[in-house]
Amino acid sequence: MIDFLNYIHRKQKDEILTEFEDDKVAKQYLDFLEKKEFIFYSTNSYFPDLSLRSINEDTSSIYFVTIVFSQFINENLDQIISNLNGLGVKRLHFHLTDEDSMSVIWNILNLLKFSRITNLSFTIPYQKIDKEIYKDNRLKTVYLYNSPKEKTIRNFEVSSFFIKKNSNNLFTPKFGLNTVDVNTNTFNIANNYNLSLYKTIFVDGNGIIRFNNLDRVNYGNITNSLHDIETKTIKKLSKIWNIQKKDIFPCNNCEFRFCCSATYIPKKENDKFEIECNYNPYNTELT
Ligand code: SF4
Repeated sequence: MIDFLNYIHRKQKDEILTEFEDDKVAKQYLDFLEKKEFIFYSTNSYFPDLSLRSINEDTSSIYFVTIVFSQFINENLDQIISNLNGLGVKRLHFHLTDEDSMSVIWNILNLLKFSRITNLSFTIPYQKIDKEIYKDNRLKTVYLYNSPKEKTIRNFEVSSFFIKKNSNNLFTPKFGLNTVDVNTNTFNIANNYNLSLYKTIFVDGNGIIRFNNLDRVNYGNITNSLHDIETKTIKKLSKIWNIQKKDIFPCNNCEFRFCCSATYIPKKENDKFEIECNYNPYNTELT
């Protein structure tokens, strides 16, 4: 699609429609690109190309945080939320294990009342949900694991996904359609950084900051002072998120390298960066 996008750049719509008259896929691409605002039509050429280094970047120091809820996290919740606000976090996910998680969810919703979080989600065990939580504008998604059957329901702005899986491996990096993110912003980030890891952290039950649940590197603790996180932790994290997929094998040959957000951490082998992905771009097999 990126090749198609480059090919049609600055062409007349009529010209494109004539050229691809018998090509259904090209028409689907055009509809998609229009809908997602990757393309627009103009009779005037007032729009110079943006440089690939031009990134309409969010001002957050950290954008997306996943937290495994625990007694330690609960006891330090005020300090943690204050740090999340200081870091400018916009997307926050909590993983809970309580069979009745509603009081914890209400407490978190109350503590976030004046926060900068715009997208909040939870994973919780299958249980009865207090429908009042759906009225909170920050809450966007609830995943219920251990569900007897799979279904999706929508209340106000909130999508609830009932999944049969248990909580093992819920956060283990794995490529799939749900890790593909197609929009202008992600494309820009992927051109300049590692899209999967950029400004994204995983906080375990002891508050330790990592990239994902398999990561053994300790980048600091979410209860540390904001100053320490902003200087020491982010400095260490950014060394990894600056490794672009074009420099990682086999991502460098993968068609998903501009939209894949599977959080694999590159390892250096024989002076080259590598990951082990469940998708093989050479034979398009998914395991
Ligand atoms: S090879 Fe890399 S870019 Fe391709 S799907 Fe796997 S992690 Fe994503």
